[in-house]
Amino acid sequence: MAGTITIKNGYVFDPLNEINGEIMDVFIKDGKVVRELSAAELKNAKVIDASGMTVMPGGVDSHSHVAGAKVNAGRAMRPEDHYKANLQKTSLTHSGSGYTVPSVYKQGYDYSAMGYTTVFEAAIPPLEARHTHEEMHATPLLDMGGYLVLGNNFFMMRYLREGDMEKAAAYVAWMMKTHKAYGIKCVNPAGVENWSWGKNVSSLDEANIHFEITPREIIKGLTEINEHLGMPMPVHLHANNLGHPGCYAITKDSLKIFDGVKTRQDMDVEWAETKIDPSRNRSVYLSHLMFNGFAGTTWADCESGVKGVADYINNKDHVVTDSGCTPFGEATVMTGDGPAIHDLYTLTGNKWSSTDVEMECGSGVLPFTYYKSNPVHSLQWAMGLECLLLINDPWKTIMTTDSPNGGPFTKYPEVMTWLMSEAFRKQTFSECHKWANDRSTLGGINRELSLYDLAILTRANPAKTIGMAHRKGSLGVGADGDVTVYNINPQQLDANDYEALLRTFRKAEYTVKDGEIVVVKGEVVSLPGKRTYYSDVHVQDEREKEMLVDVKDWFRYYTIGFANYPTPEKYLENPTPIQVNGER
Ligand SMILES: [Zn+2]
Repeated sequence: MAGTITIKNGYVFDPLNEINGEIMDVFIKDGKVVRELSAAELKNAKVIDASGMTVMPGGVDSHSHVAGAKVNAGRAMRPEDHYKANLQKTSLTHSGSGYTVPSVYKQGYDYSAMGYTTVFEAAIPPLEARHTHEEMHATPLLDMGGYLVLGNNFFMMRYLREGDMEKAAAYVAWMMKTHKAYGIKCVNPAGVENWSWGKNVSSLDEANIHFEITPREIIKGLTEINEHLGMPMPVHLHANNLGHPGCYAITKDSLKIFDGVKTRQDMDVEWAETKIDPSRNRSVYLSHLMFNGFAGTTWADCESGVKGVADYINNKDHVVTDSGCTPFGEATVMTGDGPAIHDLYTLTGNKWSSTDVEMECGSGVLPFTYYKSNPVHSLQWAMGLECLLLINDPWKTIMTTDSPNGGPFTKYPEVMTWLMSEAFRKQTFSECHKWANDRSTLGGINRELSLYDLAILTRANPAKTIGMAHRKGSLGVGADGDVTVYNINPQQLDANDYEALLRTFRKAEYTVKDGEIVVVKGEVVSLPGKRTYYSDVHVQDEREKEMLVDVKDWFRYYTIGFANYPTPEKYLENPTPIQVNGER
């Protein structure tokens, strides 16, 4: 029977159901978690004996760069990234290459080998949505979706400037449907538009050129629209001044804008059974805190400002953040924040790509290597871990490397192990520049995360944060049958034996997707289908019509015709719209 399996006797970690290492069986029927299987079903079901092993829901990555034009620019401009990492074709799998920016097939296999089953692309420029969907379509084994970049969009900025919130909301709803996107991403609001003029903005109240709108106004407007429409996830904010010494202050001030915003998540979906409320309760999802967490005034006197932001988050309940950890080694930085990448270009002289996406946004790409010998890079390593260790409530944090910005997602095992093992952190301190210790608080932190914490940071909370906990991130009845089995016995876990932890997290013993075994000991063994999620947001027809009159009028400034703008559903692998009630 397809998609029917019993995973027996494992130590189960399922935070959305408050299950913390209990020995249990997990039953999956036709791809969904069920309470039990009948005797006949049991007879025909596949069985995984997980005795002495750790069982978690499949991994969920809520912020990664895996598809679209800038990812492909990263591939194209880095042949050196592809010599070193190759994958041979097998009778089942495609060949592939690429270390920091792998080809689509390889990235699907690599994620799956580590136990991940769901990955969301963090930035889709509307004009590049077709391309993004083509790459998501081609990425095997992962359920996917992505966030639409709207923080410097001409149409949005015009509506917000004019205070026409109704049309602005209708525009966002239409854009989600048109581009089959899932949530709102806001990158360096007002600043990316200024980058078209070789400039940036440096404060929340600095108006940009021509549109005369400030970052604060854009953030406020987008979040009002987000909650008005009942979107699955909060506004996903990439704050201003990213990567500048002193930027932690504007990051903290940006988070204050969301304080007191009433959240409204209104989706027509079936909710899996969970003990903890799986709906979202945050009004902002801050991206990669590490890159937005520098204190100081120059690179000479810079230090970690993560504690300043973490203290704020500890005292408030409206913020969730992902870390953007930087394990050392090769990376490719890529972001919609063009001016931030230009700054890195002037610092490094590395090859650099900068793109202006017509009336919508921009992007920059640059190869980058984080060295243990470099003072700032060492500090960044410490800051990334501070993001996850200084915020007390794991339900406010999500583990990422902002792949491939801080490093490729294949470095997650290192990050997981640093979080769980103070001994591993000490070992790394002994190898890297002393700024890591002198200019951060990491050396004084002895917190070691448990497997339960880790399941929150890599499964339950990313799913809850982005509004996917109705089917992802838990093993509750009705959830998707996505499971990771790690070959580690929690009863014998020794945080000092970090080599064993690294080995464990690098290769899942089993990855199960929709009840099918897809990975055994890190090797892909089957390739069942996958899904693409997007938000089908409903607004009043009249309002949409009025808004489209404006859009069609302004559309003459695009290089493409209006009819060619939308992304048809055929571009999506197994399109799975989430009905968002909006104004219905
Ligand atoms: Zn990112």
